[in-house]
Amino acid sequence: MSTTLVDRFGRQHTYLRISVTDRCNLRCLYCMPGEDIVWKRREELLTFEEIERVTKIAVDAGIRKVRLTGGEPFARAGIEKLIPRIKSLLGLETLAVTTNAVLLKEKLPAVHPFVDAFNVSLDTFKRDKFRELTGRDKLAEVMEGIEALLIRGYQNLKLNVVVMKGINDDELLDFARFAEERPIAVRFIEFMPFAGNQWSQGKLLPMADIVRELEKEYQLQAIPEERSPISRDFRLARKRDGFQSRGSIGIIASMSAPFCSSCSRLRMTAEGKIMPCLHSPLEFDLRKVLRSGGSDVDILNVFLQALGEKPEEHPPAEEMMAQAGRVMIQIGG
Ligand code: SAM
Ligand code: SF4
Repeated sequence: MSTTLVDRFGRQHTYLRISVTDRCNLRCLYCMPGEDIVWKRREELLTFEEIERVTKIAVDAGIRKVRLTGGEPFARAGIEKLIPRIKSLLGLETLAVTTNAVLLKEKLPAVHPFVDAFNVSLDTFKRDKFRELTGRDKLAEVMEGIEALLIRGYQNLKLNVVVMKGINDDELLDFARFAEERPIAVRFIEFMPFAGNQWSQGKLLPMADIVRELEKEYQLQAIPEERSPISRDFRLARKRDGFQSRGSIGIIASMSAPFCSSCSRLRMTAEGKIMPCLHSPLEFDLRKVLRSGGSDVDILNVFLQALGEKPEEHPPAEEMMAQAGRVMIQIGG
């Protein structure tokens, strides 16, 4: 393992999350600000050639896992051409994609041979609520996208659910039931504050409350932590008859139990800014280096500079709210 991408606190960075667009075909309330967002112009975004070059340099320096995200990655025209190019980089072990699944049924045939893992985001099974939360009537397309992944045999599918008190916390058991017969890891994510996303302490349902709700119907059996350093994972056994779920549930307690000490992530925004921490406004301009004839070493140096200033941990929620940083859709989760 290369020791190049190590920060001041000894954390080795092996995971790069790349946003390929800031645009999206949904309008999730918790992700986008209320007022109209100004999209980046096409020429502001990194080209596929630039993304491929940067990713190769990062993989040579020790990145082993890349996740494509956005905005909605499948909303970027031609993404099916980029995916095989990233997957073919020597040294890369895992190529993952996070998607809202709206376009998945249509795009999956072209990309499935190259994508090792998918995370699908879905916060409700109710059509009206889906429309309220996302601004679009697309629940049926999302469910078809999930079905398409299961038909293709993905055994490691993750379903990301942002839990918001008073909004979708009445559906936690429905999500657990969804994992009963399917090889799906449902992951409940604590609602995080970003500029303009209507976060409040009152909407945060902490991990302990999520567990209490699930325990009404299930016995939760902890799965050892190695599976993922960021989520606490559990197998589910139905209390009424002992039925063992095929899938599992996980809780990502970014707010009530942050996992900063084991963070191995770096992020690159769609316009080529390297962000060492999701919750810090720090960003480092890689596009400028790329477009002014920078060498591979110059590009690697931008990563090293970002790592050199990566904070030890993220600030408390109130401080995060006060920071005039990017909104989630511009970072990529
Ligand atoms: N469009 C894709 C999707 O929705 O999966 C990828 C981008 S989205 C920004 C990545 C992830 O961030 C999604 O799982 C989404 O639920 C999560 N996310 C967005 N805003 C969030 C917030 N305020 N708190 C917690 N998770 C959030
Ligand atoms: Fe789009 Fe994903 Fe943000 Fe929803 S969470 S608005 S689907 S980028």
